[in-house]
Amino acid sequence: MRHGPAAAMAVAAAVLAAAFPLGAAAQPSPERLKAAVTAVKPAAVETMQALANIETGSGHGPGLAQMARLLSERLRALGAQVELVPAEPSVGSNVVGRFAGSGTRSLMLIAHYDTVHPPGSLAREPVRIEGNRLYGPGVGDSKGGIALMLHALQILKDAGWNGWGRLTVVFNPDEEIGSRGSGPLIQKLAAEHDTVLSFEPTLAIRDSVLTGASGTANGVLEVKGRAAHAGVEPAAGRNALVELAHQIVQLSDLSMPERGVSMHWTVGQAGDKRNVIPDAASATADIRMVDMAGLKTLEDAVRERIAKKRVPDTEVSFRIDVNRPAFKGDAKTDVLVARAQAIYREIGRDLNVVGSTGGGTDAGYAQAGGRAAVLESLGMPGMGFHAKAEWVDLDKVEARLYLATRMIVEASR
Ligand SMILES: [Zn+2]
Repeated sequence: MRHGPAAAMAVAAAVLAAAFPLGAAAQPSPERLKAAVTAVKPAAVETMQALANIETGSGHGPGLAQMARLLSERLRALGAQVELVPAEPSVGSNVVGRFAGSGTRSLMLIAHYDTVHPPGSLAREPVRIEGNRLYGPGVGDSKGGIALMLHALQILKDAGWNGWGRLTVVFNPDEEIGSRGSGPLIQKLAAEHDTVLSFEPTLAIRDSVLTGASGTANGVLEVKGRAAHAGVEPAAGRNALVELAHQIVQLSDLSMPERGVSMHWTVGQAGDKRNVIPDAASATADIRMVDMAGLKTLEDAVRERIAKKRVPDTEVSFRIDVNRPAFKGDAKTDVLVARAQAIYREIGRDLNVVGSTGGGTDAGYAQAGGRAAVLESLGMPGMGFHAKAEWVDLDKVEARLYLATRMIVEASR
């Protein structure tokens, strides 16, 4: 803080007090917050650019470490106690910031800082502004959300308001590869909070929040056969690759939309020598489920089918490894949705609600904690997530920043 003449300080204090009445009872008014988000927009866009300019593809240690340092600094500057929690078995650390407050309610904000874009992506896809679009790898998913979170907290700090009881921020480094090193932490921390707001992006054409996201699992199919020389005595072998191919074909139509479960074979492996009948083959399927009951139905159907084999004397096994629990909005979510929509109406906008997506998110872990009201997709509207030419809509920064800031205030009441 700078020191000046007492009179000047008193005037400054009076101006501040008029702009932002202090104290838990006097929360910043919507009018003041509207002015604040307009003033803060350029800085928020700058933060989005700075975050997108660090390469944080999942597993890219140096970039993830650089980002963890930057986010730690930013959280400390906002007044947080910061802890780095290693995200083993994933590369990188969870950045956990804790803010004490003057109120009683507890609130957690989450967003991931890894991206699907491997190192070198920035050279091909530089961060740039074209018209009302900010382009860059990960700029929407979910660095835009991180920027909104940081600047919402900055606005409230500048307002001298911290009406929550406890506010925890979690930035994780492995969402795009299944959150194995962060999901359990998010689940545990979520169980200690009343509300969890997650900052994944939303589609620009919808400008929405999200109340449901599929859980994800791996379906693992393994075939054991018998090796033999492919030229000398092929009949002595039991071709695991042929049996795998047969199984994949007969297991390729088991998605059940009516049960909220889908399965698609995406990875396969067999043999490593051209002249050897392969004795092992395996394949992995991407499985999505709205709930665990659908997953069980799928598993039963697979078990029944794999009994029908084509290559005698081969062994076929199947297992499901659950990665991420499903997020299914409940009555507590509905309360948050109603608040968010009311907040959007304060700025003359309609907030859409999307009930489900095939993409899994960490909201599933937060809800699995069993306590918190959870809402997803408070991040930036954009397009091209997980693709080239990812962008966010700069015309929506103020609205989304307003939504984030007001949601923090409302969830603290
Ligand atoms: Zn994401």
